[in-house]
Amino acid sequence: MKRPQKPADGAPPSAQLILTLRTQGVTDPSVLSAVERTPRDLFTPDLFKARSWEDSALPIACGQTISQPYIVGLMTQALTLEPRARVLEIGTGSGYQTAVLARLSRLVYTVERYRTLLREAEARFETLQLTNVITKFGDGFLGWAEQAPFDRILVTAAAPDEPKGLLAQLKPSGVLVAPVGKGPVQKLCRYAGDGSGHFNMEVLCEVRFVPLLEGVAREP
Ligand code: SAH
Repeated sequence: MKRPQKPADGAPPSAQLILTLRTQGVTDPSVLSAVERTPRDLFTPDLFKARSWEDSALPIACGQTISQPYIVGLMTQALTLEPRARVLEIGTGSGYQTAVLARLSRLVYTVERYRTLLREAEARFETLQLTNVITKFGDGFLGWAEQAPFDRILVTAAAPDEPKGLLAQLKPSGVLVAPVGKGPVQKLCRYAGDGSGHFNMEVLCEVRFVPLLEGVAREP
């Protein structure tokens, strides 16, 4: 039997998105289910609500972006999460990626350098009753030393070079996924620990992320 190329008429808008992600290689059923159960329209600004279920990055407040769902799926799949995992996320942004992670792990610690974005994201976590998300206003370059080591680390802004400081907060057999590079196009890198303090790096694809910036943002 041929696989359906289009969801049935009247299917929820998430159905088309899930098909798109599958076609592009996000095949882990638990990841697809987490994306499907995360209402992206809750995370997009009013001006872009109609485009919430499109597979594209969209502008959010403070000149930042909500990630493209395909990239969210790809990065989440690359993390190989387990239900018991404690995860550190750098760059909360809208909180969309955080919410997807929260459905697949025990605890998600997320750090954001814009207070405004963090407050808005916190309200969304409350609406969705995601009680396993712990937020922090701060500079993600520093990670979250008090809560280290983490099973998994996800960076959702582009690190200029190998994120050594964050790798130091990862368990020896942990996994870190981050866009790495100084230009407008970066390499999505996956670092997997071999259990003895060495991390093997694999490049997954090319991506475009806003840069990881040092320090917290000054806001009016
Ligand atoms: N995953 C987010 C994408 C946010 S864009 C989403 O789906 O909405 C990247 C975010 O990283 C921005 O909100 C930006 O402010 C934040 N960021 C950049 N540098 C940072 C740093 N040093 N510490 C914490 N957050 C940072």
